[in-house]
Amino acid sequence: MSTTTARIPRGRQFFANPGPTNIPDSILKAVSAVSIDFNDPAFLTVYDDVVAGLKRILKTQQDVFLYTGSGHAAWEAALVNLFSPGDTLLIIETGHFSESWGKMAKDFGLEVRTLSADWRRGADFAALRAMLAEDKTHTIKAVCAVQNETATGMELSIAETRAAMDAAAHPALLLVDTISSLGSLDFRMDEWGVDAAVGGSQKGLMLPTGMSFTGVSAKAMATHKLSKLPKSYLNWTNMLTRRHKSFIGTVPTSLFYGMRESIRLLEEEGLDAVFARHARLAEAVRRCVRHWSGNNGPSLFCESPDRFSNSVTAVLMPEGHDAEAVRRVALQAFNVSLGGGLNRLGGQVFRIGHLGDLNEPMILGTLATVEASLRVAGVPHAPGGVQAAIEYLAEAARPA
Ligand SMILES: *Cc1c(COP(=O)(O)O)cnc(C)c1O
Repeated sequence: MSTTTARIPRGRQFFANPGPTNIPDSILKAVSAVSIDFNDPAFLTVYDDVVAGLKRILKTQQDVFLYTGSGHAAWEAALVNLFSPGDTLLIIETGHFSESWGKMAKDFGLEVRTLSADWRRGADFAALRAMLAEDKTHTIKAVCAVQNETATGMELSIAETRAAMDAAAHPALLLVDTISSLGSLDFRMDEWGVDAAVGGSQKGLMLPTGMSFTGVSAKAMATHKLSKLPKSYLNWTNMLTRRHKSFIGTVPTSLFYGMRESIRLLEEEGLDAVFARHARLAEAVRRCVRHWSGNNGPSLFCESPDRFSNSVTAVLMPEGHDAEAVRRVALQAFNVSLGGGLNRLGGQVFRIGHLGDLNEPMILGTLATVEASLRVAGVPHAPGGVQAAIEYLAEAARPA
């Protein structure tokens, strides 16, 4: 007989994945809008408002193209619209997602150089600068950076990436993946000189999966005109001939009603307050994990405190213990869904997503349940990690 009998779950599932994320009730209502002709003037107003709002979130006054497709479609759009066969890209290694973007570029016949980095410490900007300075013939057409490496729970500073490129006086385009950072970590497309900013719907923007987009600079649009990789559905030039200046086919109208609500929620709270909330909840998670690590327990995967991600924390298991066992207990016994380790981190880490529609009780509930799961799974840890999170959050909530 199994000791855990199957339970009928009641109450809400605590969803602590780093994407998709919790969808607020008001967004669920908004996406349930009935079908509407995407050229109906009533929808065009919504459409134009959403594109304008998305530019405020990206902090850009340049072009934005949207796609029916998840983040991978926007990765692909950025590559096929900007490059020609044989062009060279420099990918800053961060983890699974930088590797995947690089692999996609190779699939399209692009040359990929990698700025190698230790996944637990992050890339070295002096090395980036040196690599660019050495490229005297400007063979490197673009630097690709993942702002928030969702697989490792680490942030890559885009301001420092831009500074390294400027210091080397290198004219490469700067392509940035903001898929798990936009709407939870600060992002400034124009100020940081980002030429293509890739984003998706189901992470910080709290929407269902299915829409993605790229902010595109004027410099990138000029490069686009010369690009020779085959493209059709994702071709920006084709899109510009449409009323919507995006979407070759049917526009996903319900996601636009959802995104209008998402932007309203983010701006009602205020972007800076949104970022501060993410920072606060993330710090509570880290204090809890640090406490657990006391007794040879699970520890923070990220070893560079200045690179901690405020949207996801990867927790490294002690030797000989399987992260999947912890995730299984959390889900089956407590109805808490955690993120798993991706590819080569499979079984070694589990991930606590703390981005999107989230508050203190949800974080404390998740941490308490993860601690219970460690106990059930027989994983060593210093008990009482949640207390460290409680103390931090209580201090943060005290009136000034
Ligand atoms: C989720 C994610 C992707 C992939 O996006 P999909 O919407 O799953 O296609 C790419 N990059 C990062 C950093 C991500 O977090």
